[in-house]
Amino acid sequence: MRYIMLLIYNVEPTAIGPPLMHRAKKRFGQNFLHDRNIINRIVQSISPSAEDHLVEIGPGQGAITQELLKIAGKLEAVELDRDLLQPLAERCANLGRLQIYNSDALSFDFRQLVSEENPKPLRLVGNLPYNISTPLLFHLLEQADSIQDMHFMLQKEVVDRMAAKPGSKTYGRLSVMLQAWCKVEPLFDIGPGAFHPAPKVDSGFVRLTPYTTPLYHIKDQRLFSQIVTQAFSQRRKTLRNSLKKMLDDTVFEQAGIDPSLRAERISLEEFVNLADKAWKTGQMS
Ligand code: SAH
Repeated sequence: MRYIMLLIYNVEPTAIGPPLMHRAKKRFGQNFLHDRNIINRIVQSISPSAEDHLVEIGPGQGAITQELLKIAGKLEAVELDRDLLQPLAERCANLGRLQIYNSDALSFDFRQLVSEENPKPLRLVGNLPYNISTPLLFHLLEQADSIQDMHFMLQKEVVDRMAAKPGSKTYGRLSVMLQAWCKVEPLFDIGPGAFHPAPKVDSGFVRLTPYTTPLYHIKDQRLFSQIVTQAFSQRRKTLRNSLKKMLDDTVFEQAGIDPSLRAERISLEEFVNLADKAWKTGQMS
């Protein structure tokens, strides 16, 4: 009996395999990466260095965390699932300085991590929980001034929407809002087999780099966001109809945009122009 106990006690956690005790939780969007090649490609794309201010969202069992730590020596991470904290800390103990915040990334103030101690803008990394990816991206956009770049694993369909151009079926609010503030670069696709448990969908790895000099000067960002959101809220309607409570035909005329078009035909530049003309004519209270 004693002997068996000792054996169990001595079991070393495998490099990235699931720890014996942890069962993946669906409600936390847990799909753990186990494909060594994919992990390497992710780390190569990030190309971390010891000078970087790396922050991982949802480190889970540390598949990416360990590799980043080995290279960069330090890392901060935001993880919601308390059950994962202790095993993660133990796994990474000898690899570098890991600081874990047990918090919900959706309400986490990432700006506070840029401090006197580490004033560099953040390099965010994450194999994100797919069920919260869109609200999380919008939460991060609000803090883009503290972010150097972001490398995320997401549902491939979401990556397609992020990078979509006008005229495509997937072009929408997410495309316009992200592209207004960030360069969006889809890097590669990943099949379900790279994860445990395997998700039902394909995944994509994407790089987002917030512009240091904005592409367009948007006079009223709230108004811009409201117009984009409203325009895409009923995709099949014309702009005139979907925006009738906010804008009248004079604004469309001033912006040189045909109000009988649907939102999916309107470029980012045209949305910026429309919002600025609306702002100028003071139609919004
Ligand atoms: N990076 C790991 C785990 C990915 S699974 C890997 O690639 O294997 C997604 C991770 O996000 C899980 O660890 C999950 O617990 C965590 N998570 C889920 N919702 C979260 C939230 N709102 N805030 C922070 N972490 C969250």
